[in-house]
Formats: sequence, C-alpha cells, structure tokens
Amino acid sequence: MTDKTNLKSLSKKEIFDFISNLGLPHYRADQLMQWIYKRYASEIDEITVFSKELRHTLNEHAFISNLKLVKSVKSSDGTKKFLFSLEDGQTIESVLIPDKDRLTLCISSQVGCALGCSFCRTGKLGLIRNLRAYEILDQIIAVNRILSHHKIPPHPPLLKGGRGDFTFPKITNIVLMGMGEPLANFNEMIEALWRIVLFIGISKRKITLSTAGVVEINLAISLNATTDASRNEIMPINKKYPVKSLIDACGKFPLQPGRRITFEYVLISGVNDSIEDARRLAKLLRGIRCKINLIPLNPLEGNSLKRPPEKNILEFRKILVQNNMTALIRESRGNDILAACGQLKGK
Ligand code: SF4
Repeated sequence: MTDKTNLKSLSKKEIFDFISNLGLPHYRADQLMQWIYKRYASEIDEITVFSKELRHTLNEHAFISNLKLVKSVKSSDGTKKFLFSLEDGQTIESVLIPDKDRLTLCISSQVGCALGCSFCRTGKLGLIRNLRAYEILDQIIAVNRILSHHKIPPHPPLLKGGRGDFTFPKITNIVLMGMGEPLANFNEMIEALWRIVLFIGISKRKITLSTAGVVEINLAISLNATTDASRNEIMPINKKYPVKSLIDACGKFPLQPGRRITFEYVLISGVNDSIEDARRLAKLLRGIRCKINLIPLNPLEGNSLKRPPEKNILEFRKILVQNNMTALIRESRGNDILAACGQLKGK
C-alpha cells in the first residue's frame, strides 16, 4: 500500500490543487493532463516535457496507475477482446470492434454484475465490486496505448506524411455495454463520462450508454421482452422497474432533435421470439422515436436458452417493419472469442 497519490484518480480540480500544493504553476497541471490522457504516459518518467528534477519531485508524491494487460484474443471478424487486471487483482474485459472508419471500444463498468440476466455470463458472477471512474476510463487509455504500439504519440497530432509523422488508429466510439450495469455504479460512471469527453476528447455523440437516461449521450435500453412475466424471467431487474414504467420513462426522455432511443432486443427461442411478441413490441414502442436492434442470442455453455431459427428471426423483424418500426438484425461481433453481448466474464 502506497501513500502516494494516484494521478489518474484525481478530478480536474484535484489535479490543479495537487500541482499548486507543490508550489508549481498552473500550466504544469495542463501539461500533466495532456500527457496522461492524450499521450497515454504510463509513468511520470515518460513525461519528458518535465525536467529531471520536476519528475523526481512528482515521483516522490505521486504515481500513475495502469491496467495490466493479461491477455488479448482476436476474433475471425477482427473484433479483439482484452482481459485487464486491476490493482486488487480483479479482472475485467473490454472489446474493440473495428467497423469501416469507426473503432468502437465496449467497456466495463463493474466487476461482475448484480442483475443476473439469465442470458449473460457476467450476471452469473454476481457483483464483485464497482469500478472507480479512473478504472472505467483506463480501459480506453490502455487500448489506445496498445494501438499506438506503446509509443508516446505527439500532441497535437502531426499531419499525415509530415515531418515526424506518427499516426495510429485511435478509439472513436465508446459503448458502455461491457461487464456490469453502468447505472448501478452511478457516481463513478458520471465522473468517467465527463472525463471521457473532457480529458480524452471523445464527443458525447459517440458515446452510447446501455440503460436508463442520464446526460446528453445516446441511450440504448436493453428491453428483451414485452410482458412482465417473460422479462421477470430473464431480467430480474424487471421486478423493480416493470415494462410499463420503463417504457413510460423512455417516452419522457428528453431526446435531442433527430436522435432516437435504441432498444436492444435479444431474441431467445421460445421465450420472446413469437409473432405475438413482435406485435406487442410494436404496440409498446408506438409513439416513441426509436429503432430496434434485434440480436439473436449467443448461447452460453451449460445454459438451456437457445438462438431462434433463422425464419423466426426474419418473421419477427418483418412484423415490426410492417408496423412502421425501424428494426435491424444485429449479429454480435466476436462470438468465437466470447466477446459478444452477454459473454464477458473477466476470465
Ligand atoms: S446483461 Fe448487463 S445487466 Fe444483465 S447481468 Fe449481464 S451485465 Fe448485468
């Protein structure tokens, strides 16, 4: 246990206070933030804009924590899954999904999850602990650092092909759909969202949080059933917030012009994939500006839940489209490496 300050655990104000308590000028705090969040410095000695003496002083009082990469695996579709270990030895997973000009990172918000959805491996772990804001953020820094081959990128970025050109792919989009229920870790999650936007510089339009409504980011609701009876069965959280109250809340969500709520609907054979389910779903969402992502289940080992046959999936979508809904069939990426929706376990 060290009594040094972890610089990544500090908010913007705390970084400025820390620097001024050392008797240093304000611009040093700006430099520190730039080197940690835009240039991914993993230790104080990498911050070469600071003199040797200044680095020595900082090292006496502080350190920069880092997620430790335990393992990474690549799927045949290009999706990559990273297993990281935290300071206390717990592990989490993050999934990098390349798609044309986008590079999306699906990040975790908790170690395990208390909600116990029956189709999800994370839920089987129960809640082990919440992630701290900096641990949520650090998944982005760690993967960007891996993408940069651990070189310190210049800031501001140099022009492609210019002198000292050093370009590398960077994460462009964030989805909060990894391990855990983001809103069950509300305070740390909100702080992490601010830091993703302000420190790392990813626009809030490119961040999607899967659950109920907070801040001005894209909203995705994991719905998965149209009646309380079937939703109770696969998502125990429904006993607390039944379907009607969830849909009412969505109807009141302050959507920006031109934006829509995304409803995720995992199709499970014999549970929620009937023609009646499709009709009920269309009726339930009528009047809400939304689109529906139909995700055929990724079956889990030792679990009786199955993926519906192809013809049921197509029929389900057809009924939604006939009812003037926007519905897309989305196959989860990275199925072969257990990186798809509901398959993360941190192992
Ligand atoms: S699907 Fe999401 S909310 Fe449900 S158990 Fe898995 S991680 Fe938790």
